[in-house]
Amino acid sequence: MKDRYDAIVAGGGLAGLTAANRLADNGCSVLLAEQHSQLGGLATFFKRKSHVLDVSLHGFPIGMKKSFRKYWGREFSERVVQVCSIRFDNPQFQLRTSFDKSDFVRLLHDRFGIEQTTVDSFFAALSKMNYYDDQKQTTEQLFESFFPGRSDVWRLLMEPITYANGSTLQEPAISYGIVFGNFMNRGVYTFHGGTDLLLEMMENTLQANGVDAERNCLVEKILVERGRVVGAVINGREIGAGMVLVNGNLPGAARDLVGLEHFEPSFAEGLRQVRLSNSSAQVYIGIKPGEKLDYIGDLLFVSSHPVFDAEAICSRQITSRTYSVYYPSLRPGSNQYTVVASMNSRHQDWAGLDRATYRAEKRRMIDNALDGLEKYVPEIRRITDYTEAATPCTFKRYTRHDLGASFGTKFEGLHYSMNLPKQVGGLFHAGSVGIIMSGWLGSVNYGVMVANEMMKYQQG
Ligand SMILES: Cc1cc2nc3c(=O)[nH]c(=O)nc-3n(C[C@H](O)[C@H](O)[C@H](O)COP(=O)(O)OP(=O)(O)OC[C@H]3O[C@@H](n4cnc5c(N)ncnc54)[C@H](O)[C@@H]3O)c2cc1C
Repeated sequence: MKDRYDAIVAGGGLAGLTAANRLADNGCSVLLAEQHSQLGGLATFFKRKSHVLDVSLHGFPIGMKKSFRKYWGREFSERVVQVCSIRFDNPQFQLRTSFDKSDFVRLLHDRFGIEQTTVDSFFAALSKMNYYDDQKQTTEQLFESFFPGRSDVWRLLMEPITYANGSTLQEPAISYGIVFGNFMNRGVYTFHGGTDLLLEMMENTLQANGVDAERNCLVEKILVERGRVVGAVINGREIGAGMVLVNGNLPGAARDLVGLEHFEPSFAEGLRQVRLSNSSAQVYIGIKPGEKLDYIGDLLFVSSHPVFDAEAICSRQITSRTYSVYYPSLRPGSNQYTVVASMNSRHQDWAGLDRATYRAEKRRMIDNALDGLEKYVPEIRRITDYTEAATPCTFKRYTRHDLGASFGTKFEGLHYSMNLPKQVGGLFHAGSVGIIMSGWLGSVNYGVMVANEMMKYQQG
């Protein structure tokens, strides 16, 4: 690390990495300081035995292709490939879908018997939604107005989103509309080569652009003088910078790194009240070298719960999970099969457990995930040679997100994130926030937007 940079980016998640790259592209000197030994934040991977396990590569919208091309380069966008088969299996329906608009229109009409005009006007309403719209209508009210009493349709439309980010029917309809509208457009996509290759390519690009990307570097304090950022303390050392971008947890960073005394009291109070999104739990399953999985689909939304129920989806008594199945085609030449079961999960359900109970509950979660998979792969236990589980405590530990939040804050957080620089000159936040700006696409795009704001700030 040098003694001084134009900008410090605190955190190497997708938003931080992208912002750092954009700033450097535009001539800024940039230090990216990541507290963990690996870049990527929640978009990461780990290696155990012969397996590479991806944490959050289940799927992202087609928009990633354009964002990769514009902000990282063609060699990134060319690796964006479609996830072909997505399955739903629950007591209300079993179906396969390509998860794009035309297939959803077909399913809603042919399978669920909804009038074509209703389906068309539902999608027309979604496509018109944007951040500046009325934020009072809830998702439940939206569904009730188009599909009254149709809990099966609500489940089809809502469950995948709740599995991922814990959204409930009480969230603003526009956050649902924007997230679902993005995914709905043209299906679900993934990165050919896996998260390990993506992060290696990103690190090489940053290096080529002159960014100092440092791991094991904890930003301990953001230094503010007379209402402006002047630097940061990193691993005990003061580094000067006129701008700091916080990529991690928004309320936590404002409180612990900056100090709420630097904000107007009403803004500080608002920040304190910002609700966090839920966390996640995962079970990682590695298949023995030499064994194989027959093709059972790429993403399986599996539930034994009778109806859609956001509370039940997040419970430690798991009834619903997403299986992401990774075949060797993701990493050509590797001959690797892995399965990752993901659940939405609440930090408070895990944080208070004593060590023995915590371990037993993790074991139970692994066993249940294998039980659920047996329906599709009867020999799964015989061909598995590695299992592990992550809980909200794991996500908190590795990313320092308050409560292990995996999609940042609820909707109201976006306002506070966007308005940070009006409170403290040179202080910016980019990263999962407000549901809209979360997930891979939201984080990358938000990183770009905020980097643009930083360049304007620098030019005065
Ligand atoms: C289990 C799971 C599955 C998911 N699946 C998908 C999916 O399929 N599709 C999708 O689009 N999204 C998915 N997501 C969400 C997606 O991964 C995240 O929204 C996105 O990666 C967040 O990026 P971010 O830039 O906000 O930063 P984060 O990933 O939150 O990273 C923040 C970084 O800041 C670092 N940091 C924090 N504090 C400090 C500090 N003081 N000093 C230095 N560094 C610090 C952290 O270590 C971390 O690396 C999933 C998330 C989880 C948890």
